[in-house]
Amino acid sequence: MTTDDGAPETGAFEIETPDEPRPFRYDGEVRPGEKRHVRYEVSETYLGDPVEVPVTVINGTEPGPRVFCTAAIHGDELNGVKVCQELARRYDPSDIAGTLVILHVANVPAYHAQQRYVPIYDLDLNRSFPGKAGANTAERTAAELWDAFLSKCDVGLDFHTSTRNRTTMYHTRADVTAPGVERLTRAFGANVVLAGGGDEGSLRAAATRAGIPTVTVEMGKAHRFQPVLIEKALDGVASVLAEYGLVEGAVSWPGWYRVVSPEDQKKWLRADEGGLVEMQWGPYPLVREGETICTVTDHFSREEHVVAAPFTGLLVGVLENPVALPGHPLGHLVSVDEATAREIEAEIRSGEFDGYRANGGAWRAGDEQN
Ligand SMILES: [Zn+2]
Repeated sequence: MTTDDGAPETGAFEIETPDEPRPFRYDGEVRPGEKRHVRYEVSETYLGDPVEVPVTVINGTEPGPRVFCTAAIHGDELNGVKVCQELARRYDPSDIAGTLVILHVANVPAYHAQQRYVPIYDLDLNRSFPGKAGANTAERTAAELWDAFLSKCDVGLDFHTSTRNRTTMYHTRADVTAPGVERLTRAFGANVVLAGGGDEGSLRAAATRAGIPTVTVEMGKAHRFQPVLIEKALDGVASVLAEYGLVEGAVSWPGWYRVVSPEDQKKWLRADEGGLVEMQWGPYPLVREGETICTVTDHFSREEHVVAAPFTGLLVGVLENPVALPGHPLGHLVSVDEATAREIEAEIRSGEFDGYRANGGAWRAGDEQN
């Protein structure tokens, strides 16, 4: 469906909610007014012990939509785990009209190993949705989670971070052309949205295709809790819950909002030589065309290669490990138009970006916190 100007119609998507509060049924049942922490068995170890995903279901006393939040689908991406812990603590059934379903750690074997993939065969749980019974471990796990919890929800948020040795600016990824997704994306309120369908088998792609608008939240780095980003994400969830009527309160507006479409200019800047990387950009993520992003030098300091911004944009991801090979990704730059660049500069002047560096939300190489 399209509007007169050809833009995809995103406003017509309706979530049907019943007049009466309803139980949330998986294998068990969480009654209206009940908050339950469960360990849901999805698989077994070599020893035959259960692999159990920690899940919190907060079923409101009033009827309303069902929202899921998932974390650690990649086992070393921890910021979302802290978001989920806090959500499970913060909300009670008496506060909620509808149901909040929290999968604290979706990929338990990878979480135990503190790595991205399911260990042993390096299966990617986030390429395995909606899952398949009788298939490999990741697809079975995905199917268990999908059937019991995720498929029963109306909208979803899936929390990720950058992979190790890199860091990512706080942003969302969403298929804003799919029904209902732009509403969710705006309500969550990250400034930057990388638009696109998502990889085949990702939870976001599978859920969105199944009519459950779902957004991926990318925040910071692996193996860390970054308090500023976690607080931002909790505000984002509160705004989403307000948007869909689960809680009372205001839907927050981020000040500026930029959807980077797949056709927009964005580029992974890569090293052409091996050497030592020194980040030169910053401290803010906005770089102007021609500005030096980093240098790559040899160990004798005889050769220095300057990597400059090919266009004005936001650095949404940067390398943290300071050694590079030819082809190594150094930074992910997405273009911003002049109006957005000026808005960002105004926010920088007002100090909006300062907290990123000072309070542990830093994502600039070298700004290691906690
Ligand atoms: Zn991830």
